[in-house]
Parts: sequence; structure tokens; C-alpha cells
Amino acid sequence: MTTLSQTGFPSLMTACWRGFRLLCPHCGRARLFTRYLKPVEVCGHCGADYSDIRADDGPAWLTVLLMGPFLVPLAFGIAVSGWPAVFTYPVLAVVIVGSVLLLLPRMKGVVIGVLHVSRLGK
Ligand SMILES: [Zn+2]
Repeated sequence: MTTLSQTGFPSLMTACWRGFRLLCPHCGRARLFTRYLKPVEVCGHCGADYSDIRADDGPAWLTVLLMGPFLVPLAFGIAVSGWPAVFTYPVLAVVIVGSVLLLLPRMKGVVIGVLHVSRLGK
């Protein structure tokens, strides 16, 4: 499998997959984030510049878009199941918050990958 297009830049899917794995979308060898949602300014391995890329609300929007179809039926199913609310709602809250916290930086990596590739194509 080739990871670079004929121009020497990563393909869109490659950059998205690397961003999803929290790696540099350009080289895939260095970490993309210094903290939870703080991307590096410049890749420590390949030198790709991410200082001017602003993901804004894209990652949050993608997270809600991906989690909604799974979490809303789960929440309604639990609500009508008759299980004791004192146990199910805390568990449901932990599942929802945990899954969002896991997915949000990955969606930010995907958005940064898309923006990085689209910027390279200019
Ligand atoms: Zn890199």
C-alpha cells in the first residue's frame, strides 16, 4: 500500500487515518498533539507546519454526528427498559462522556488531516 500520492504528499484517506490515530497526517511517525486537543505547531519528525490550521468546530460536529446514531437509541432503549434509573443513568453518562472524550481528539486529527491535504493541493 502506498501512503504518498504521486505528488509526494499523503492521500486524503492516508492523512485522515493518520490523524485518527493521533499521528502527524503528513508522515505518520510523530504525535500530532502535545496535550489533549492541542496540536503541535510543527511536526517533530518531518517538519510539517500545522501552526495555521484551525479545526474550529469541525471535530465537535463530527463527534456528535458519529455518536448520535448510536447513543440516542441506546439512551431511549435504556429509558424504556425498566431498569433502575439510579444505576443506568450514571452508567449511561459515563459511557457517553467517555466515548465523546475518546472520539473528539481523533476527529480533530481527521479534520487537521483533511485541512493539511487540502492546503498541500494548492
Ligand atoms: Zn510529520
